[in-house]
Amino acid sequence: MSRRTKIVATLGPATDDVATLTEMIRAGVDLVRVNFSHGAFADHAARVGRVREAAALAGRYVGVLGDLRGPKIRIERFAAGSAMLRDGDEFTLDTAHDPAAGTDSIVGVTYAELPRDVNPGDTLLLNDGLISLLVTAVEGTRVVTCVTAGGELGNQKGLNKQGGGLSAAALTDKDRADIRMAAELGVDYLAVSFVRNAADVEEARALARAAGSEALICSKIERGEAIGHLEDIISASDAVMVARGDLGVEVGYAELTGLQKRIIRLARERNRVVITATQMMESMIHSPAPTRAEVSDVSNAVMDDTDAVMLSAETAVGRYPVKVVQAMAQVIVGAEKWHYTQSRERHRIDGHFSATDEAIAMAVMYTANHLTVKAIVALTESGSTTLWMSRIRSDIPIYAFTRNEPTRRRVTLYRGVYPVAFDVTHTQPEILYPSIFQLVIQLGLAAPGDLIIVTKGEYTGVSGGTNSMKILEVRV
Ligand code: PGA
Ligand code: MN
Repeated sequence: MSRRTKIVATLGPATDDVATLTEMIRAGVDLVRVNFSHGAFADHAARVGRVREAAALAGRYVGVLGDLRGPKIRIERFAAGSAMLRDGDEFTLDTAHDPAAGTDSIVGVTYAELPRDVNPGDTLLLNDGLISLLVTAVEGTRVVTCVTAGGELGNQKGLNKQGGGLSAAALTDKDRADIRMAAELGVDYLAVSFVRNAADVEEARALARAAGSEALICSKIERGEAIGHLEDIISASDAVMVARGDLGVEVGYAELTGLQKRIIRLARERNRVVITATQMMESMIHSPAPTRAEVSDVSNAVMDDTDAVMLSAETAVGRYPVKVVQAMAQVIVGAEKWHYTQSRERHRIDGHFSATDEAIAMAVMYTANHLTVKAIVALTESGSTTLWMSRIRSDIPIYAFTRNEPTRRRVTLYRGVYPVAFDVTHTQPEILYPSIFQLVIQLGLAAPGDLIIVTKGEYTGVSGGTNSMKILEVRV
């Protein structure tokens, strides 16, 4: 049985040899994430080069997502390397404090606007929410707090405000430089961290285009204030990530599951792609098998209809980068087996279609889900027809037949869509259809006698031109 939900794997030191990467791709990695938070251009270029090499060895198409660091706000350093915060103690964050001279009662912060963005009564969270501080006073450059959940605090730990509202712009100077780097690396997706609103997404897209990149833009939903602008952010993006790490800190982890379901639904309704991320198989950083809770988390994301599930530290620095991909792929297949997908879909049933190709895509899925069809073959330039198709729940595989390599790498993220290299050299039906039949038989996608649905445009090779569907019996 084929797997519809895709796997994104984060690259890191644990994946830095071609042999491991090749095994990971064979085990099921569809798209890799290059994290621009760590490393320089040469490291990223080498990583992307190894992915291309491993994908070729494994005989698969693998997309690349470049992930911008964004304005993660961090505390500075402690003279002793760390500090011990005790419940009830006073602790001060000071934007003017010597960055190397933090103590158990005060530490510097790089973010100069902090005193403007917080008020007495606000809760600040450090180190992914493990330590919490209640703001008691704001005096010039100093934010005075009372420790409400203490613990050991290391250098340069992340700082979040509960409910969101630290106003740092989504794109830092480093991000702007990294967008130019992403263009040079030829990434297929560009992820924007800590997006606040649609304008942040549009700015990132404009910068990417100006740098010569056609990357699809993926907004990471990980800030409290993004929740109030979800519809606009999703509409402005090509893809979104449910970035549960930072989001869980900002909104409180108890609301994560509900938000995950809502973001996935909103994304699919708007024909956008969605990745569910962070701590999905966290225990496998050190352990060779997932916990039952992790199995359940991945399965539930599959049943929420996410396009992809993501591995972070599990592959980047984990002990079992291949095993974790195998386990995730296995869990996805198991979940999909019990996820009733066919025919029930009412997605867009009351909607209005804005384009001919969109209408064709919907008609295809309605037909495929109500007739016994082996496969859908979409002759496509940009892949947009397959994106629309994949927003509809179905068990029928959708093959993106395209001569465009960038399109083949981009559709790796779409649920239930698989890229196939195919160049339309003859548009006459007597030549075109037999050449499609030959390829589907050769690749084992269908056998003689099976029904398949083929979509195409009048003038194949034109983007957005799909205007017909054919139901065909495969013949030799
Ligand atoms: P990160 O993003 O891994 O880059 O922090 C994902 C998240 O916050 O969940
Ligand atoms: Mn994050």
